[in-house]
This record gives sequence, structure tokens and C-alpha cells, in this order.
Amino acid sequence: MARARDRVEAILEDLSRRYLPSGDLHEGETALAKLVAETDDPFRVLISTVLSQRTRDEMTERASAQLFAKYATPSEIAGARTEDLERLIRPVGFYRQKARQIGNVSRVILERHGGAVPRSYEALLDLPQVGPKTANCVLVYGFGEPRIPTDTHVHRVSNRLGLARTKAPEATERVLMRVVPKAWWLHVNELFIRFGKDICRPVGPRCESCSFTAFCRHYRTVVAKRGTRAARERTRRDRAAG
Ligand code: SF4
Repeated sequence: MARARDRVEAILEDLSRRYLPSGDLHEGETALAKLVAETDDPFRVLISTVLSQRTRDEMTERASAQLFAKYATPSEIAGARTEDLERLIRPVGFYRQKARQIGNVSRVILERHGGAVPRSYEALLDLPQVGPKTANCVLVYGFGEPRIPTDTHVHRVSNRLGLARTKAPEATERVLMRVVPKAWWLHVNELFIRFGKDICRPVGPRCESCSFTAFCRHYRTVVAKRGTRAARERTRRDRAAG
């Protein structure tokens, strides 16, 4: 754990220089960071996060823009016809299911919270369709509260780099909250997602362009060994041919 703590600041400083040189989250490039550049409305952050599940950023951005152009508040979405919501959010995957979900969550926000998105983690988790990642996204991007939203990119990058040894994003989030200094919490999601899409990709990570090979657990245990095996195989073939 101590080694992970020593390492994490160097990693975040490096990624920050690469992806967020101003240090301003409003200049981020993930779908949520872009949305926050336009509005700090926690309700829109919540709805966009629900729409973003299992969907590419570009599709989330299109669906959110179409939806909010017509319905932008809990009462408007709760009062909208489901077929109309489906039509507006059609670019995202599972749009029929998500149309029902955003209608439900809007109704609960109206009935239990007077139309305002609650600001506590526990109250957010009590809403339908809100799990730990969505609750943290709302706290970070909607309220500017320091939390660490952990999706599959954040989970994969954290485990490859040896910051966590976990099987699921929820467990990774808890480990990251112990090893990452609080001053960095707001930035982890944006930085790890960008790094995870750009370099540390799920399949075929671009390790040759990465600054962390010296201590990356995945590189040491998988990539470097594969390289050694390939070199041995080449030598064996050369000898057989010669
Ligand atoms: S060395 Fe490769 S696997 Fe490790 S963090 Fe960098 S890109 Fe990812």
C-alpha cells in the first residue's frame, strides 16, 4: 500500500501534464467533463450518466443534447411520454430501458426530494438506477465534491499499474480512496479514462508510448514475458533455418 501511495502522485502528475495541463476539470474531454463545461446542473449529470452506461461518449453526448433541448428538469422528464423520451435518446444503447429509467428516477427526485438531486452519497444510492459509479459522477461533476467515480477504464488502469488488486470497480474505488491523496480525487476519473482509451487500452495497450513500464504490473507480468517468448521463438526459428 505504501508503495502504491508513493507511486500514485507521480502517475497523476504525468497524466495531468498530458491530458489536463490547466488542471481545470472543465477543460476535460470525457462526455461528462464536456457536459459540465456547459452546465453544472447535477440533474443533467445524473441523467447523462444513466444514458452513458454501456454507450460510447459521442452517442451519450448526442442523446443528452437532444433530450435536454426538449426536457431539462425532473418534472419535465417525469411528465414526458415514454415514447417521446425513447425517440430523443435513441442514439444510446438500450434506449427503451433507459427511457423508462430516466422517467422513474425523475419521478422519485420530484416525490422524495422536491425536485432537487440529493447531495449525499447514501441518498443518491437510494435513487433507482443509481449505483456507486453514477452517485460518484453526480458528486464530482454535479456538485464538485471530491470522490472517485470508477468505471471499467479506471478499474483496469488501477489494476494494471498495481495501485489496486481487485476484481470489481466498486472494490477498486475503495482502494483508490485510500491510496490517492484527496487533492487528486476530482481528477482521477478524467485522467484514467483518457489514458485508458488513448494508451492503456483494454486490448493491445500501447506500452511503447507509456511512461510507466518500469513499474507497471501488467507490463512486467504479461507484456514483457510475451516479448521474451517471442524473442526465444525467433531465435529457435533462426537456428532451425541456419
Ligand atoms: S505499460 Fe502498458 S499496460 Fe502498463 S500502464 Fe502502460 S500502457 Fe498500460
